[in-house]
Amino acid sequence: MSPRPVLRFAPSPNGELHLGHALSALVGFDMARRFGGRFLLRIEDIDITRCREEYVTQIYEDLAWLGITWEEPVLRQSLHFTTYSAASDTLLKLGLLYPCFATRSEIAEATETRPAVTDPDGSPLYPRLHKNLPSEEIAARLTRNEPFALRLDMERALDALERMTGKRRVTFTELNETGRPETVEMDPDDWGDAILVRKDVPTSYHVAVTVDDARQGVSHVTRGRDLFAATSLHRLLQILLGLPEPIYHHHRLLTGADGLKLSKSAGDTSLTALRRQGISPQEIRRLVGLSGNA
Ligand code: GLU
Repeated sequence: MSPRPVLRFAPSPNGELHLGHALSALVGFDMARRFGGRFLLRIEDIDITRCREEYVTQIYEDLAWLGITWEEPVLRQSLHFTTYSAASDTLLKLGLLYPCFATRSEIAEATETRPAVTDPDGSPLYPRLHKNLPSEEIAARLTRNEPFALRLDMERALDALERMTGKRRVTFTELNETGRPETVEMDPDDWGDAILVRKDVPTSYHVAVTVDDARQGVSHVTRGRDLFAATSLHRLLQILLGLPEPIYHHHRLLTGADGLKLSKSAGDTSLTALRRQGISPQEIRRLVGLSGNA
């Protein structure tokens, strides 16, 4: 008998949930129910300066009000930094990470003079400033306690990927909007030497999400299309770390009246505000374009 599917909703408590989050949570919850699967809630609070406890409380209240139930205990990423460090240590030992001491302004200066090469998020591609620092310089900077990030040496990572899979690209299965599986092939090199351990916290979104989806046994990752491109990096990390491959579904995004993606900073459609205005959970389903019950 194959194990029960496991799905999850993984919000970051750095603002109030809005209609876009309601869609994301409901898409995952509905799919879990359709598949007879389990549903988990994970609080992605690695960004300890931006995440706030009151938003965590609001997440629990908003989701319960929407009729969503999840298994306890809820995983809080901020309590698991050592687990994420173990994964980045593995990559470090494989020679796939290097320290980058460059400051924001040094990176900005170096990218200013280059043609506009950007990553899928639209940020300038890191110009590999500190990729080949001599070991004496690394040692000297470490002695001076200079803060550093750990970046993925993409070239070496792709060499390792090729040795392991025979290809320098990754593939994954994406369930499209009609639920049909499609094979997607992507080039992780689009992200360049991405930061895997930040300067300010001992991990990154990419490492934490990959490690947690694996250790929580998530079989179907449902999330918005804004994270579609990041999946190439997650698949690369899964392969390098020997983690299982989930199935993905990147759902449509809701747009505001201005046609732009709804964001927490827009503050226009907070679920708490809608709830206090007396809107019903059923009405929320209709507003986000979902029909009936699950
Ligand atoms: N924590 C991420 C967010 O709130 C979602 C991560 C994911 O679903 O992979 O945007």
